[in-house]
Amino acid sequence: MTTIAFIGLGNMGAPMAANLVKAGHATRGFDLVESACAAAAKSGVAIAKSGAEALEGADVVVTMLPAGKHVLSAWSELAPRAAKGALLIDSSTIDVESSRKAHALAKELGLLSLDAPVSGGVGGASAGTLTFMCGGDEAAFAAAKPVLENMGKRVVHCGGAGAGQAAKICNNMLLGATMIATCEAFALGEKLGLSHQSLFDVVSTSSGQSWSTTSYCPVPGPVPAAPSNSGYKPGFASALMLKDLKLAQEAAISVGATTPMGALAAQLYAMHNAGGEGGADFSAIIQLLRGKL
Ligand code: NAD
Repeated sequence: MTTIAFIGLGNMGAPMAANLVKAGHATRGFDLVESACAAAAKSGVAIAKSGAEALEGADVVVTMLPAGKHVLSAWSELAPRAAKGALLIDSSTIDVESSRKAHALAKELGLLSLDAPVSGGVGGASAGTLTFMCGGDEAAFAAAKPVLENMGKRVVHCGGAGAGQAAKICNNMLLGATMIATCEAFALGEKLGLSHQSLFDVVSTSSGQSWSTTSYCPVPGPVPAAPSNSGYKPGFASALMLKDLKLAQEAAISVGATTPMGALAAQLYAMHNAGGEGGADFSAIIQLLRGKL
């Protein structure tokens, strides 16, 4: 049994912390929002009055927060109070630069640290089937792996500090672009008189195949579990896709990478969000491409 402090009990953090409880870890949680704490308490997370209180006696600290500034603020407060040899894990999706700053903070204090953003969404967080993309040194990865395995089914070591965040934004930039291309193909198929099922049957077994078609088809019918069958309720919200595409663009600019498809995907998701659709699933962007927004 490990004593774990879990900071940020939102849509992702609460079910992740619940899986740590299920695995038998003493899990103390904290969130600024009372209703988030109350929901997590129902699954056995012991609620602390502050991040510092959650941290007392913890071997591992996990943060699951909205953005880089929240993570840096939480780590600045918590790292100096952490027990000697403690491990800090950040599973939020944040910019690579902030992630590296957080690692540096931990290193100065002799703590182990890992960036470990996730793929799999709220469904994966609840089912304990997340993929963790990890950045940090070998010792931090080795210490974190058994803990992360209680919340996910794949834990990949991508490299040094910030490498997990780098892998996450590369993946999600690719996902944003393939989803848009998939939506374009289905919207064109509709105008050409193709049924959704016939186009799916061809694409899913042909060279245009991708996860966006086979697991998350943006039109109702072919993939029953996809959000397109339930009014585009997320799933993965368009606002979160926009966040990740912006992070990818910031990162691309910072290293001088050429990412025109990623830039266009960011623009299209910005339009989708500006049209009031940020809360819809990201596959709902098909409406924009049909000219129906
Ligand atoms: P969320 O907004 O539901 O949860 C974040 C929580 O952090 C909130 O409850 C907020 O009150 C809390 N918080 C903020 N500052 C805090 C502080 N200083 N101390 C304690 N609590 C604090 O967001 P989420 O959907 O759970 O996402 C969390 C992270 O995971 C984000 O970085 C997001 O990009 C990433 N992510 C989300 C999904 C998804 O499908 N929701 C998928 C993959 C990755």
